[in-house]
Formats: sequence, structure tokens, C-alpha cells
Amino acid sequence: MFTHRFRQLAPYVPGEQPGDRQYLKLNTNECPYPPAPSIAALLHRFDPSRLRLYPDPTMERLREAIANRHGLRLEQIFTGNGSDEVLSFCFYAFFGADLGTLRFPAFTYSFYPVYCDFYEIPYEKVPLTEAFEVDLDALRGPGPAASGIIFANPNAPTGHFWPPERIAEMLKRFRSDRVVVVDEAYVDFGGESVLPLLDAHPNLLIVRTMSKSLALAGLRIGYALGNPDLIKALFAVKDGFNSYPLDTLAQEIGTLAVAEEAYYRDIADRIAATRTRFAASLAERGWQVLPSRANFVFARRPGVDGQAVYRTLKAEGILVRHFNPPEIADFVRITIGTDPQMDRLLDTVSRLWP
Ligand SMILES: *Cc1c(COP(=O)(O)O)cnc(C)c1O
Repeated sequence: MFTHRFRQLAPYVPGEQPGDRQYLKLNTNECPYPPAPSIAALLHRFDPSRLRLYPDPTMERLREAIANRHGLRLEQIFTGNGSDEVLSFCFYAFFGADLGTLRFPAFTYSFYPVYCDFYEIPYEKVPLTEAFEVDLDALRGPGPAASGIIFANPNAPTGHFWPPERIAEMLKRFRSDRVVVVDEAYVDFGGESVLPLLDAHPNLLIVRTMSKSLALAGLRIGYALGNPDLIKALFAVKDGFNSYPLDTLAQEIGTLAVAEEAYYRDIADRIAATRTRFAASLAERGWQVLPSRANFVFARRPGVDGQAVYRTLKAEGILVRHFNPPEIADFVRITIGTDPQMDRLLDTVSRLWP
């Protein structure tokens, strides 16, 4: 009865957050450790009457803190309601049919094709290499004129990572009048940022999130780093949707969190150490585990269907993530939790698939 221009949309399906029982949640790459202790202290002393007022629409203190953290200037920072929102603004601002076809890896963050459908951006999915790596040469071209490139590094759900030098080679050969977005949601877990490439490549935009390595998924803070023209464009888009995307508390807590470098370095290192140990133990049990620099691993047990692994583990009270496309249907993506949590999973795996 009601016609709607977006009736055909296939929305992004986030990892499940079920409430039917207590699960060991290893399905959405959340952080197993709490945010920095100074954040608890801030929440205790926060004056609720401050919530009477609208937040700062330019999010300046938070952006200043992020700029300091990365050695950049305020005009190079955009902040938004989770990196999902920042990414959405990027798709709207920088890609479109008039510019050509957007390219991204066939298996990467599955929100990218959803944004393309939403904004009616033509796109091309570029296959991964045999080793499940992002194929940088194929992303760059040849082929139809690209309206831009986007990929995650480390990539999800595979965990593979390309060092900045390899991405620099790609950028040098790609047209400088189209935007390249590198989604660094997982870079803190052992990757290396393309930040040093920003000066030489004004068409490069980096997107980050505080949801994973800063243990703040519930607060919704994402940001973009890039040259001031790109950042200005994102602000223009923001002001066409919502002038106040980040609330007062999120701005305040985010400002504190980016300054807590030592605390967050420590938990990222712990997660990376747990990942190394867990991946080795899983491999000893006959699983194929793709090399990962993220806070998850992508793994399969030869001969066992990934959907069955997912369902069987769920019945045991453990949630992992499974994806349906046939090329990766054998795999499950397993978030790295604490050592005891991963031990529980390893014990369960040994029992179920001896
Ligand atoms: C989790 C994730 C995001 C989204 O992060 P939010 O800031 O929580 O919206 C973006 N990109 C990738 C690759 C992710 O894995």
C-alpha cells in the first residue's frame, strides 16, 4: 500500500545480540576487557544537568584529542556516530554513478554493498587472491573507470593485512582524483596504519572506530582522518542529516579514551598474544586458521560445514559468526576474547570435533 523507494533494500545484518541465555560472545569482535578505568571515574562524576544542552556540533574537543593522538591537525579529523555512520557519509560524499564504479574486495566488511544500494552507487566486487588476501592490483584496475576504492586493512572477516608500503604502491598507480578509503577498524591489533601516506596522497581517507580496540562499541564513536577538503565534505554531509551525531557523553568519554594510550596498548597486546596462542592451538586440532592481525581469526575445520560449526557451538552457548557466500561458507569468524574464554572454546572444539 505504501510505496517506498527503498523497498528493494537488503539491509546489513549485524552479528546477533541474543537475550535468550548467557552466551560466550565471540561473534561481533567486541573487546573482552573494560574501557580505561578513568572512564568509570568520569561517569561517576558526570553532572546530568549538562544533558539539558545540545552537544558541540563541531565535536571540537574530541577531534582535538584525536588530532593530538595521531599527530594531525583539527581540520584533518571528522567524527561520527560509529564508523558505520562515518562510512555511510563517505559513500554519499565521494562515490557515485557519475564518477564510475566503486571497487572493493568480494569479501570485506559486508556493509559496503549495503551503502552502495542505499545511495545507488554502482560497484564491482573484486575477488580475493587464492590466499584470501585483498588483491590490491585488481582493486586499482584496469577495467571500467573507478569512482573510488574501499577496503578494510586488516581485512574482515579474513584478518589479512597489507603493510603501508604495499598500499603506497597501489596509491601511486591509482588516479589521484578519486578517493581511496582504508577502513582501519582493526589496525591496533598488530597492523600498521597508512597514516604516514596522508601527506603524499590527498585522496586517501582513513576510517577508524573506538568500538573494537577502545572497548567502546556501546558508545558509537568512529572517525575519519584525511586532508581538510575531504573532511569538509563529510561535515557538509553530516549537516544535511543530523547536526549533532555525537552526544555530550560520547564526546566526553571519547576525548578521554584516545588519551589513554598505555592502557589500550596493553589490552591490544594481550588480545594479540591470545590470538597467537589460540590460532596455534586450533591448528593443532586440525583446523585451518588464516593468518590474522585483527582481534578475530577466520578458521575452518576441513570436512565440517561452517554453518554446522556455528549451530553446534551456539547450542553449547558459544556464539561465532558464519557467512553464507559459498566461497567462505566453510569458515567461521571467531572473535578473540580472554585466555580463559578461548580455552573454553578450545575444550569445546576438542570434544565436538576430536
Ligand atoms: C566493526 C567494524 C566497523 C564498524 O564499527 P562501528 O564504529 O562500531 O560502527 C567498520 N568497519 C569494519 C571493517 C568493522 O569491522
